[in-house]
Amino acid sequence: MDRATLDMVRTQTLGYPRIGRDRELKRALESYWAGKLDSAGLMAAFHSVVEDGWMTQREAGIDRIAVGGESLYDHVLDWAVRFGLIPARFGALQGLDRLFAMARGVPGIAALEMTKWFDTNYHYLVPEIGAGVVPEADFAGFLELVERARATLGERAVPVVLGPYTLLRLAHLSIPLGVALGKLLPLYRELLASLASLGVTEVQMHEPAFVLSGADEARDEVERIYAGLADAGASLNLVTYYDDLGDAYPWVVQLPVDAITLDFTRGNSLALVEAQGWPTGKVLAAGVIDGRSVWRLRPNEVEDTLRRLRAVPSLQTPGALRLSISSSLQFVPHSASRETALPDPLRGVLAFADEKLGELTALATGDLSGARAAWAAFERFAPADEAVRARVAGLTAGDFRRALSYVERRPKQVALPLLPMTTIGSFPQTREVRQLRSRYTKGEITLAEYEAGIDALTAYAIGVQDGLGLDMLVHGEFERTDMVEFFAQKLTGFAFTQHGWVQSFGSRCVRPPIIYADISRPAPMTVREFAVGQSFTSKPVKGMLTGPVTIINWSYPRADIPRQEIAYQLGLALRDEIADLEAAGAKAVQVDEPALREGLPLKRDRWGIYLAWATDAFRLATCKALPETQVHTHMCYSEFGEILEAIDRLDADVISIENARSDDATLRDLAIYGYPREVGPGVYDIHSPVVPAAAFVEAKVRSFLAHLAPERIWVNPDCGLKTRTWAEVLPSLRAMVEAVAKVRAELG
Ligand code: GLN
Ligand code: ZN
Repeated sequence: MDRATLDMVRTQTLGYPRIGRDRELKRALESYWAGKLDSAGLMAAFHSVVEDGWMTQREAGIDRIAVGGESLYDHVLDWAVRFGLIPARFGALQGLDRLFAMARGVPGIAALEMTKWFDTNYHYLVPEIGAGVVPEADFAGFLELVERARATLGERAVPVVLGPYTLLRLAHLSIPLGVALGKLLPLYRELLASLASLGVTEVQMHEPAFVLSGADEARDEVERIYAGLADAGASLNLVTYYDDLGDAYPWVVQLPVDAITLDFTRGNSLALVEAQGWPTGKVLAAGVIDGRSVWRLRPNEVEDTLRRLRAVPSLQTPGALRLSISSSLQFVPHSASRETALPDPLRGVLAFADEKLGELTALATGDLSGARAAWAAFERFAPADEAVRARVAGLTAGDFRRALSYVERRPKQVALPLLPMTTIGSFPQTREVRQLRSRYTKGEITLAEYEAGIDALTAYAIGVQDGLGLDMLVHGEFERTDMVEFFAQKLTGFAFTQHGWVQSFGSRCVRPPIIYADISRPAPMTVREFAVGQSFTSKPVKGMLTGPVTIINWSYPRADIPRQEIAYQLGLALRDEIADLEAAGAKAVQVDEPALREGLPLKRDRWGIYLAWATDAFRLATCKALPETQVHTHMCYSEFGEILEAIDRLDADVISIENARSDDATLRDLAIYGYPREVGPGVYDIHSPVVPAAAFVEAKVRSFLAHLAPERIWVNPDCGLKTRTWAEVLPSLRAMVEAVAKVRAELG
């Protein structure tokens, strides 16, 4: 890099963690909702978290700092409110009451729907835009936030606005896109003019939806609205992330904006720029530092990308190329430097939000020696596990196929009454369970005492299921905090942070494990609890496992080991676990894959590759089960209509699915597809505290009979029961048993 280029290099961020270093905002929100903190207190906590993020970025020397994406609950909800996209049912509410009612619902008024934000583990609230809605500007709060940012950061502050195409693409839109864009255009113009009048010179217009398949179809409408924004007063930086622009690249880069930010850490933006060129006079902000991984940059990779970008003629003008984080940093924790319990060589290659700011400035000055040394030390610390790698390399087709087909193996498996009843795995995680665990982790009780406590809970859960008359039982998962963390703690290759919380939605945070090395299973993970559960009953108890794909999707995997390799390593560990469960007497195992669907790539043409290795990893885990062992799987959280073939390919004997909230949609899809094995569509919604009446469950079961032969149907709740109380679970399961008894009697 020559000096002149260097001096012109500008760094930018796209957003910062929002919940606070010590989850201050989470605590403030929960106190506010509990009536223990007033709105002034809540806003003070919010502003202090926000200011901390601004100051940290300023001190790191970032030139352009994204501001205004900070949020009390969710940024998409904020923009829906700012544009007056308020469904009529919230009409009587105002201010924070309305905001939180839209987010969480209040008695009698349903919240907006919540769904995953692109392919991340963050959830946003889905705006509803119906024919009756009249957009109306309410930008005061946003403008006030921007003014505060300018007071702290001056020219460095760049307001973030959620772009019109993305807002509408993510919404439930019951009017044509063009009509909705037409209604929003004057409001966007008004917003940009107001920002300009504050003295703002650059605005980040976030349009991640441009990377989605189908963006091309909206080309005319998008070109029209961006033409309408070109003279609205502020210079626009059009920001895209999570993938490349694909087919939309040629026209998106020609939109009348001054700068465009592309993601160079996912998809293949580099190939597009090299093959199709870059428009002269437009700034390219290159997202070369991955805002979604927890890993330090790999110097050679980033340098190679930048060298190739600098070879593009139109990017050789001073100032034409900026360095950027690839996305908002909201998907990574605050600071790896606090994780002092981790071994130094591992901590040395972790980069959370604050470290990534440092990387950005190091990249601008060309000094990547720190990263090089850190990776060299890490490679000595965590070399490949050759035995594990060899085992994966030695897999053959036979490792992915069950010995007998479903039709051949089914008669060998457990015989159960028609419409067998089961549950999904967990039973209430009561205060008693949490206290037991915390006393054990604090060292107040011994392992033996802890296990005795868990076993007593298991005995109770088994007794309940036996007493009610369920057919296939579960031990209750009392020993598990979380379905991924539990397994991660028992496998090699995983590390855990102390402070590594990231926002999942609203005040809810998760602390995903980090996969830093090859994975193996030093000892059985679930056999003790299974055996204890089975010892209390003569009915079959399911061995309960979390599937390889879900473990990966809810962790931070190593960026330089292919996900397929990691998934196969997990698959082999689970396969060994299933063999041990069988040896301990398990007649059925359940391998949960609730996150299978959410791992789908954003671009449809890459679905096939993902689904192939994802389903293979599941098959690897399950297909060496004995023909006599009934393999169950469970999925929830999403519509499965689009991946039925992949679900079929899992070759599970029984699949239980979330169904109660979708009006049998998933079941219908499975029936139309001709799903050839057994299905347990959920009969009631476990997310709601409402106890279903027996008549309700009965109607559900009857509706299943309209789609599937009775021998194919299982009866179970939608998902695990860990978030419910026993007072809710007992009558709900009783209703299920009563309903099934009635239908069984008729079927004879
Ligand atoms: N077996 C798990 C449970 O019952 C499944 C949870 C899930 O699907 N998210 O809790
Ligand atoms: Zn579930």
